[in-house]
Amino acid sequence: MEFQLSEEEKLLQWAVNDFVQKELDEEELRMCNHVPQKIVDKMGGLGFLGLKVPEKYGGEEGTWVEVGILCEEMAKRSIAVAHLIMRGYEINSILAKYGTERVKGEWLANAATGKKIGCIATTEPGSGTDIAAIKMNSLRADDSYLINGEKNPVSFGMQADFAIVFGKTDPSVKANRISGFLVPLSLPGITREGVSHMGLYGSAIASIVFDRVKIPVEYRIGEEGEGFDIHVNAGTYSSLSQILAGVISMGACQEAVNRAVSYSRMRFAFGRPLAKFQAISGKIAEDLTLVEAGRWLCYRALWLKEQDLPHTKESAMCKWWCTKMACDVVKNALLIHGHTGYSDDVPLERMLRDMLAFRIIGGADQLMKLIIAHKTIGKIAVPDSLAGYMRDWG
Ligand SMILES: Cc1cc2nc3c(=O)[nH]c(=O)nc-3n(C[C@H](O)[C@H](O)[C@H](O)COP(=O)(O)OP(=O)(O)OC[C@H]3O[C@@H](n4cnc5c(N)ncnc54)[C@H](O)[C@@H]3O)c2cc1C
Repeated sequence: MEFQLSEEEKLLQWAVNDFVQKELDEEELRMCNHVPQKIVDKMGGLGFLGLKVPEKYGGEEGTWVEVGILCEEMAKRSIAVAHLIMRGYEINSILAKYGTERVKGEWLANAATGKKIGCIATTEPGSGTDIAAIKMNSLRADDSYLINGEKNPVSFGMQADFAIVFGKTDPSVKANRISGFLVPLSLPGITREGVSHMGLYGSAIASIVFDRVKIPVEYRIGEEGEGFDIHVNAGTYSSLSQILAGVISMGACQEAVNRAVSYSRMRFAFGRPLAKFQAISGKIAEDLTLVEAGRWLCYRALWLKEQDLPHTKESAMCKWWCTKMACDVVKNALLIHGHTGYSDDVPLERMLRDMLAFRIIGGADQLMKLIIAHKTIGKIAVPDSLAGYMRDWG
């Protein structure tokens, strides 16, 4: 067993931290309703967006642990920037595994270097967790598909250049499974509108309407009907997505606890620093322990993924427990700051709003617990109506 980062990983951690200090301006990001392109360009130039992407497509060799380090360090300053990176790695994985040569040549290379930003559009106003219930249709007409319907919410939908969209190729057939398509967002028939949420302002969340948008057959991602597998193997329901949501939560938690530690030393009440009160120092000790445990849960899951060892259950644990814990830990840090924590003088109130989103994005707590129970207890732990749905998680 090896419980420390390698020299290379430490170097990457240092480089990302240096980038965060120099390039991520807290005030600018707080007010911004997207991730500024200059930040995306710089991250692309430094190779932060293309680890694990074949060199042929603009990427470089790297490990999943390194991708975790990237997301964790970024989340300490900006959860939205870390979210953009996480989404980028899901998109790269989808394109590398399921994209046609044309898609890889035209889009993967640009995504891996930050020249083009992608988004994933699955959820619709009428269906979220139950993604097979989507209404979007994507009918084949000769050598193209016509995409029709609304997707909402779509993270980075307002700033993305392309979307990976999921629809049904024949909605009249009851069992028709969903299929994936790459849709350039500059095509005619597409309208986007910003959607307001309680947090994650920098994630440029959109509603996107597709009105008879025509795309070539080569822009289909995977085979017809393979959309659910794409989600589970590489997309928003994948182990990668679940672990990175956990890692981002741990970055935010660590930052929150660090702030609580500093504040407890300098803020005086009843003639002594807050840190002298055991109710405060004990809470900080509890939260630090939780963060330590959560980080190891995530890094072990990333390591399992890197070794190609089974990690379905562990990934769902990262998503459920770490995102839940992050909301508690950030809230505790905010309360230790008293009225200052509730103000926007410190970023804790924003972090709390941002973190709550991660309990929902990519499947909420209940779905993660279902995956864990299914892997541990077996089919008996799954309601009959969900038996087919859960099978895809293996
Ligand atoms: C900030 C934000 C950004 C997002 N970005 C994107 C994006 O980029 N692309 C995209 O496609 N989607 C995106 N989503 C949508 C997200 O993936 C969905 O919200 C999520 O999958 C849950 O779907 P839902 O909100 O429709 O909830 P529902 O499916 O309606 O579920 C509501 C509640 O019931 C629970 N539930 C559902 N089914 C069961 C069951 N069988 N047993 C027990 N409980 C159940 C859920 O866990 C949840 O708590 C985003 C969401 C948010 C909040």
